Amino acid sequence: MTFEILDKDLAGRIGRLITKAGVIETPALFPVINPIKQVLPLGEIKNVGFNQVITNAYLLKRHYGDLVKDIGIHRFLNWDGPIMTDSGAYQLLMYGKVDVSPSEILRYEVDIGTDIGVILDIPTQWGRPKDVVFLEIEETLRRARSALTKLKLWDPEHRMLIVGPVQGGDKFDILSYSASKMGELNFDIYAVGSPTTLLEEYDFSTVIRMVATVKARLPPGKPIHLFGAGHPLILPFAVAMGVDLFDSASYALYARDDRIILRDRTVRLSELRVDRIPCNCPVCRRYSVKELMSMSKPERERLIALHNLHVLWEELQEIRARIREGTLWEYLEEKAGGDARVKSALLALRKGLKALLNVIPDESGRVRAMHITSMESLGRPEVVRHVERLFNNYEPPRGCVAIVLPGEYLDRPYARDFLISWLLNELSARNLLSKVHVVINNPVLGPIPYEISEIYPLSQHEYPQPIPRYLRSYSLYLLRRYLDVLVRRGFTDLIIITIGDYESRIKSIIDRLGPLKSSVILRASSKDELYSLMTWVINVVENIKC
Ligand SMILES: [Zn+2]
Repeated sequence: MTFEILDKDLAGRIGRLITKAGVIETPALFPVINPIKQVLPLGEIKNVGFNQVITNAYLLKRHYGDLVKDIGIHRFLNWDGPIMTDSGAYQLLMYGKVDVSPSEILRYEVDIGTDIGVILDIPTQWGRPKDVVFLEIEETLRRARSALTKLKLWDPEHRMLIVGPVQGGDKFDILSYSASKMGELNFDIYAVGSPTTLLEEYDFSTVIRMVATVKARLPPGKPIHLFGAGHPLILPFAVAMGVDLFDSASYALYARDDRIILRDRTVRLSELRVDRIPCNCPVCRRYSVKELMSMSKPERERLIALHNLHVLWEELQEIRARIREGTLWEYLEEKAGGDARVKSALLALRKGLKALLNVIPDESGRVRAMHITSMESLGRPEVVRHVERLFNNYEPPRGCVAIVLPGEYLDRPYARDFLISWLLNELSARNLLSKVHVVINNPVLGPIPYEISEIYPLSQHEYPQPIPRYLRSYSLYLLRRYLDVLVRRGFTDLIIITIGDYESRIKSIIDRLGPLKSSVILRASSKDELYSLMTWVINVVENIKC
């Protein structure tokens, strides 16, 4: 097996990609090496922690030709870790043509000893008419099939891993078609092609939508590469959507313009109003802003590139830690806090994950409490999944009396709450259990049927105190929908106990329900009061005829 998945959170994963030059721990980023003018020596890249790099086979072939073939790419670059090579597709995108055929470049990648090769596809250019894009996709698919056939001859031991790029850009129907078709071919790695324009414009939400579209149609066990994404703002979102591999020249390109990458933004060196860059990497510990400014351009460029790589490395470590802890969503919420563009990425992620629910790890084994802190938290896949299951899959028991208890005064897990246990025992002793359905009115998650209250995260979550109004409103909306389901299922009598503030809201919910034989709203302003109401509740139930 080439790719091993060790841990998951959302659609993100920690894995090991095995190449002939060693293992790549994912999520991973390949710093782009410019074979003609590399600003940062490769030894320094290794010292930051990166074990893998990507360079361009097309440029190598044009500038060094057989030399690289003769000594091998690892010796040529003096890099013993995994090397990925791009095939010239980017040059095709930039200059409109390349003077090499797809099979020539593929053969060259095999001959120079690349660990991960990319086929020469046709990247989708932004703003191209749809019919043209479609024809280009067909051509890419033809090249993909032909490449796999040729590799069987040229690389019979399958030493080089091969990447199948999925093109289509923001033409989502074509992108989706392209992903399905590529997914049928047996590539080792799939790549989401050419969102460079979007990334330059910080249009993260479209990038996430593209990844979501592709991810849903590719074999789930295969690693996914996102071309050209190299900013700490986009990395965790892309990982959460299922991307395992990145490549980026950003560290060097930004350095060329004196742009400093930070974990949550980019700043120009000249615009920093402090003596020190807010960073603790070796470069920033050693040099002040002033010192950097007074250096020669090449020296400064090298140091900023080095700093930028350190920041990217740190971001990847944070993402790994978050996946391990199962707190990736919390991290994304933090990250989205200050930036509208990033926030839109979170929204796109929420939609994308909804469609991907089946590849997300089942939370049943998880005991960690989920923190519901904002409206965004309600978009967590676990919550979305619960709501969908509640209304689409869950079948409430038969009966005629629904008892709704206020979640505020109950202990979680609800199945072990003393009051609920006592109530159920008493009802059972009086032979009343079969006509009753107990529902917990959770102040943020809404109605939780007692029968399913142990399913994650219905008992394993935390919410802020006091509970913000918007969270409460959402839960009341869900309660109304659920009571509606119960009435349609034949429930005729409602006993609702609520905390004081929401009595009138609950009343208006009941007024809008279908016909009921009886409804009672009781108010409890403390746990003790709730207890004292229980005997009365049992008496009411006893007198209801079903
Ligand atoms: Zn730094």
